Order: sequence, then C-alpha cells, then structure tokens
Amino acid sequence: MPFCFDNTYAGLPDTFLERIAPTPVSRPEMIRLNDRLATELGIDVARLGSLEGLSILSGNQCPDGSDPLAMAYSGHQFGGFSPQLGDGRAILLGEVIGNDGVRRDIQLKGSGPTPFSRRGDGRSALGPVLREYIVSEAMAALGVPTTRALAAVSSGDRVVREGMVPGGVFTRVAQSHIRVGTFQWFAVRQDEDNLRVLADYVIARHYPNAQQEKNPYRALLDEVIQRQAELIAHWMQLGFIHGVMNTDNMTVSGETIDYGPCAFLDVYDPTKRFSSIDHQGRYAFGNQGRIGHWNLIRFAETLLPLLDADKKNSIAEAEAALDAYPDLHRSALQTRFTAKIGLEGADADDWDMVEILLKAMAEGQADFTLVYRHLSDALESGNDDAVTRLFNQPEQIVAWLTNWRTRLHDVDRGHPLALMRRTNPVFIPRNHRVEEAIKAGNDGDFEPFHRLNEVLQNPFTEQTKFSEYEAAPAPDEVVLATFCGT
Ligand code: AMP
Ligand code: MG
Repeated sequence: MPFCFDNTYAGLPDTFLERIAPTPVSRPEMIRLNDRLATELGIDVARLGSLEGLSILSGNQCPDGSDPLAMAYSGHQFGGFSPQLGDGRAILLGEVIGNDGVRRDIQLKGSGPTPFSRRGDGRSALGPVLREYIVSEAMAALGVPTTRALAAVSSGDRVVREGMVPGGVFTRVAQSHIRVGTFQWFAVRQDEDNLRVLADYVIARHYPNAQQEKNPYRALLDEVIQRQAELIAHWMQLGFIHGVMNTDNMTVSGETIDYGPCAFLDVYDPTKRFSSIDHQGRYAFGNQGRIGHWNLIRFAETLLPLLDADKKNSIAEAEAALDAYPDLHRSALQTRFTAKIGLEGADADDWDMVEILLKAMAEGQADFTLVYRHLSDALESGNDDAVTRLFNQPEQIVAWLTNWRTRLHDVDRGHPLALMRRTNPVFIPRNHRVEEAIKAGNDGDFEPFHRLNEVLQNPFTEQTKFSEYEAAPAPDEVVLATFCGT
C-alpha cells in the first residue's frame, strides 16, 4: 500500500468527528503529484503515481489502513460566530509519519459531501485546487510554515459555481488540521471533558515540551501565540495577504492554512485586500497582525476552563499570555523588515528607515517585491536607476537611498547584501500568473501551471530563463479581486 497510516485522530471520542468515506468521481486524471514531498513522507511514490494511487487521490478507492472522517469545528467568520462548521468538503484519510519523525495528516479536499456539508456540494472547483497547489508549495519554498500539496487531480465532473466549471480533488498534507475553531467547537458546547482531551492531544502532538511545564495549558497558549505572531510577520515580509483569517482558518500548529482568496501585493498598499467578500477590509494586508491577536483572544477564551480552577486566575493567565502578542509580533516584523534592507539587530532608527521606505512605496505606487530586489542590485552595482524607476517620481526615494547608504557604511558590506538576497524573493506567485495558470487549466492546458510550480521551487534564486515571472503585472494584467470559489 502506498501509505503507512498510523491514525490517532480517529481514536478520539465521537464528538470530534463524523466517519465518512469519499464519494467517487467520474474520470479522474492526475494533474500533478508532489514526488519530493511524498518521498519525505515515506510514501511509496511509484505506487502513488500508479492507477491505484490515482484512484486513492481522487477518492474513488479508500486505501488500506485509512479510517476516513470529517473533523468537527466551529469558527468566527468575518467576526460572526458559526457554531456548526466542520469539514464540509474535506475528508481526512489518515496520518503518516514522515522521515523527519513528524506526524502529518493526509486529507482529500473536494472529495464529496459529509455530515458537515450543510447546503454545499462537498466538491472543489479545479481553479481553487490549482491555486492552493501553487501557493502552498511556493510558501513552503519561501520558508513559511504551511500546509502542503501532495497532489492535484481533475475529477472529470463539472461543479456548479458561477456557471458550470471543471471539478478537482486536492490532497493536502498538514502537521494537523486542528484549528482555533476546533477548540471553539467544544467551548461553545461547554464540553469541558472533551476540551481537555483536545488540549492534551494537541500538546502531545505539537507541543510535547509543554507537558513538563507547571501549567501545560498556559504553555500551550503561549506557544500558539508565539507561532502565530511569527507566522503573520513572515507572511507580511513577503507581501502575502491571507484574505480569510477566520478562526477556523487558523491552525494551532502554526502552519498557514486555507489558500482560498489569498494574494500577494503588487504595488505596496497596507490597506490592500483582494477577497471579493472582504467588503470592510477586515483582512487587509496591514490588519493581519491585529486580526491574529483577535483570533488568539478567541483561542484563549476557549482555554479558560483549563487554565485554572479559579475563574479569576484563568482570566489573569489568559491576559498575561495575550499581552505578550503585540510585542512578539512587532519584534518579528521589525527583524524581518529591517533584514529586507540589509540590517540585522536593528535599532529604533533602522525601524524608522523601514517605515519611511514603506510610506514612499505607498505614495510612489512601487511594486513591493521589486523594490527590495532592486535595492540589493543597487547595493551591488552602485546604480539606483532600477529602484527609482519603480516610483512615480524619483524624488520619493532619492533622499531615502542616500540615508540608507550612509547607514550601511557602518555595516560590513558583503553581509547586508547576503541578508537581503535571502530575505527578499526574486519570485513570488504573482496574482496574474496564478490566474493565468488557472485559466489555462480550466481549458485543459496545464503547462502554465507546471511551469509556475517549477519557477517557484527556487524563489530566492535568479533564473534567467524564467525572468518574465519576476515582472509586475502590466496594467491590463493586474488582478483586482480573488474569489474563494467555494
Ligand atoms: P472555507 O471557506 O474553506 O474556510 O470553508 C468554510 C466552511 O464552509 C467549512 O466548514 C467548509 O467545509 C464549508 N464549505 C466550503 N465549501 C464547501 C462546499 N463546496 N461543500 C460543502 N461545504 C463547504
Ligand atoms: Mg477554511
């Protein structure tokens, strides 16, 4: 069998899940199989690439050792609480232990209805399958903690979205699919026993060191806060906008999850949002740090019964943990953004320099990714033209460049350049390139999809044959909105 399943979630009490097998599709075809990831996971790649593998990855055959189930969870969506969400179009096949010793979920997305589907069809359109494959693998290559893509399959069936569109099945790999919303499921039901079972499970699976702490649940809260503060700063370093930071889309493992309406900044604009349903800009680029805190407050609320037997003490524990978040996030952001301009161990003046540059980029409508790349080129060549050209008016950046060079004089020269080159990607999944790959894929041409995946495997390395993928979109290529396609 291709997978050596070792399932633990399936052994949790009934209230955690609904047992359900995938529903077959008509004519599955493999679009892309992530051989490298499969090997890291100890999966038999040859068998996964065979007809048997296709049959499993499309949901047409349930592999040996699988105990398929849909996970229960709740969640705050755009600030409003839904007690009853859960995997409505995803099915956990089972868990495998990779060569690194880490346990990971193998989940099919778009594999048919579950008891949590409500009015949904349990299916995925092909477009979102391709988007999640491209962006989650790009994020992994960029070094961001994230769920991964094991396979993308076309189903041969059509699904009803804005008209009839081709369907697909996506295989997602995650350290786990436990979300803030999973804790909310038990909290809203005032099911303290199972809340404790869940917390103990998460500690054992993700934060085993917390077991040694005086208060393991407080340690769990601290760890999750720390990871999210860092994760969101990491997104922002790359100009990533998650787009749908609902509490059911925030993992407790600290991996990025849900690539529905995500996008990357072209022109720098802290108020930028792409998602067609984010009318208020709740999840805009520059709001992400604050929303992370808001979600973590929801998480802490669920833990109150566990933090201390005395309610007042639990609240004090939760508040102390949450109060650390703003500084953790700010300091992660400062480290990452000062590294983008070649400065390490930054002081307050360095942060001012970061902010002045960002302000100039917003005013000058400069491309976020290109500014930082061209800054490293300018540092190497001494020629600023490529940088100044990115701004509406050169005056917006000229004085800053002078100050920056002066500041760098105090620093050893080779080092800032190396730091910038490994902090600022050459290639990101540009929105217009993702759209191009999806559009062609919907017409049955997967070449652009494969090429984009290939480029993005080495995002920090110049690849001359792919230089057109560095470019910002031409005015008529700019993507204005993204759709989750659910
Ligand atoms: P998401 O937008 O992916 O975060 O999903 C939010 C909720 O809607 C989750 O409970 C999903 O399982 C559910 N959902 C989204 N799309 C579908 C669909 N096509 N069929 C059934 N449930 C869905
Ligand atoms: Mg989701």
